[in-house]
Amino acid sequence: MRQIIHVDQDCFYAAVELRERTDLVGKPVGIAGSSRRSVLTTCNYEARDFGCRSGMPVFKALQACPTLTLLPPRFEVYRAISSRIRAIMLGYTELVEPLSLDEAYLDVSEDSRSAFEIATEIRYRIREEISLPSSAGIAPNKMLAKIASDWNKPNGQFEIQPDEVKDFVRKLPVRKLWGVGPQTEKTLKEMGIASCSDLQRIPETELARRFGKFGVELRDLCRGKDERPVVPHRPPKSMSVERTFAEFVDNLETASGKVHELYSELMDDLRAKGKLPKVDGIFAKLKFSDFTVTTVSKAGIRPVMENYLSLVEEGFTRNDNPIRLIGLGVRLREESMIEAQLNFLEALGI
Ligand SMILES: [Mg+2]
Repeated sequence: MRQIIHVDQDCFYAAVELRERTDLVGKPVGIAGSSRRSVLTTCNYEARDFGCRSGMPVFKALQACPTLTLLPPRFEVYRAISSRIRAIMLGYTELVEPLSLDEAYLDVSEDSRSAFEIATEIRYRIREEISLPSSAGIAPNKMLAKIASDWNKPNGQFEIQPDEVKDFVRKLPVRKLWGVGPQTEKTLKEMGIASCSDLQRIPETELARRFGKFGVELRDLCRGKDERPVVPHRPPKSMSVERTFAEFVDNLETASGKVHELYSELMDDLRAKGKLPKVDGIFAKLKFSDFTVTTVSKAGIRPVMENYLSLVEEGFTRNDNPIRLIGLGVRLREESMIEAQLNFLEALGI
């Protein structure tokens, strides 16, 4: 039987800053860049009580919470601390799969101790050695472990035992399932499906017809089955953001407006991953109203706005139809993975 732990730092960036800014403990704090288009990357629970959320534009966050203290992100610090946290985890198993700077899956199936006990110890050590609160979910698979880590957040943990899976998923909203975003949720709602037990009643053929390959996965996921293995050190090869437009874009001027929006989103994502300097090339994807897709990419150039604009311009000339989707992305250099491994080793004192 598999034992998977999902460890998730609570309000990671904000918590790191508050270690040094004890004067702000108990007050609403958000982490955001200083540009006009900045969004909150993280905020603490005090800020969330006012309705602040990560991803929220700064001006909106300040409307919701005028006493919010904004601090600039320090990604080098977060990366270093993330490596220390990972080093603690690697002391328990080599099967550590980071999802981001503040989240990771661990496969502790080989350990004779209970996963619950191991999770308790890891969280205790993160608190004692690094002074940060974290939460954990324990379950027989990745999807359920991730759902469980949210259950007793902050500073808590929750276990779904194998014999509890059936009951647990029955009441679970479909939105919680791995891969179900707002769009799929909406489609399911239109089919009258809100919970996993609703979804379990839909025949596989129907799911496959509506959602293709993902429909077949949904059949398993809504029953709490998820066989995906924990894959250590998986290097991200590219990162991108994309958007489908409610109204087709038929001129370059409107398109460049969309590129501006997507660009700042992409930069926020990149900064959140701390990957900005390791970009190897950039690409833009365009989908036209006739559903043809074209990708324009260039190696060795920097991810700056002008470069994206010229890629989109080039893509725009390839098809006479209006655009229904634009995506912007970066290809990441292999070295970033090597560097990440070096960081681990460094943190381990090797
Ligand atoms: Mg987190």
